[in-house]
Amino acid sequence: MKKILAFALTVAFVAGLAGIALAEDTYDIVKKRGTLIVGTKDASPGFGYIDPKTRQIVGYDCDFAAYLAKKMGVKLELKGVTSAARIPQLQAGNIDLVIATLTWTAERAKQVDFSYTYFLTGQKFLVKKGTVKSLADLDGKKIGTAKGTTSEQNASKALPKATILSFDDYPQAFLALQQGKVVAVTTDESILAGILGKAPNKEQFEIADIRISDEPYGIAMRKDSPKMLKFVNDTLLEMEKNGEAKKIWDKWFNPKSDQPMERGKFKITADRK
Ligand code: GLU
Repeated sequence: MKKILAFALTVAFVAGLAGIALAEDTYDIVKKRGTLIVGTKDASPGFGYIDPKTRQIVGYDCDFAAYLAKKMGVKLELKGVTSAARIPQLQAGNIDLVIATLTWTAERAKQVDFSYTYFLTGQKFLVKKGTVKSLADLDGKKIGTAKGTTSEQNASKALPKATILSFDDYPQAFLALQQGKVVAVTTDESILAGILGKAPNKEQFEIADIRISDEPYGIAMRKDSPKMLKFVNDTLLEMEKNGEAKKIWDKWFNPKSDQPMERGKFKITADRK
């Protein structure tokens, strides 16, 4: 008995020294804890933003989080994260999932696992009405966006002569546009539509019809969690099949909403980008 114990302790010690991950699958961690902790945006209308009446974070991303928590039979806790904090917060173990307008990229997929695509959009520019017709109108100018995003990277590639000013989040970038400190705010069209939809002076702005990327959103989790990955993916396919995914889309982006967006041909399929 003593020998077995000594052996077990030695294995644990050596594994610890070697940094071998004896990590538990996030799925099991959540089940034991009884709460699913999801990182969402908290200033992106339509996806994750604070409802002024209830002070709760609400949106498309939050409704996916709620469905997942319900299906697991656990409570849901939403934590607001900035764009740049999404993956670091996940890796630090402070959140279980990122459901926060996070685009799948090959680079990010080296660090975390992504679910199938649950929303698809592309990067555009929010500008003062009538000021921008083509990319050429933007090059060499100051453009606002948020730190730690694909928007930042795509903008520097598409506009090599522009100065990209990265803010903590999009409301600050939009303020800079209103103050004339930048000529455009660039990020996913879906996010720009949300900012514009909530702006009191929306008639002064428009989203220019210039699209510089595809942005497929995935749910991200730590890599040591195959059970969680399968659960999330199976649930996403179930939500497509039972109509819940479309219902959530229509709830936030219907023609009468602040940010109408057509689902068109989009469907959740077994595809990661
Ligand atoms: N989808 C882009 C990204 O993942 C921008 C979204 C955001 O900043 O929330 O970086």
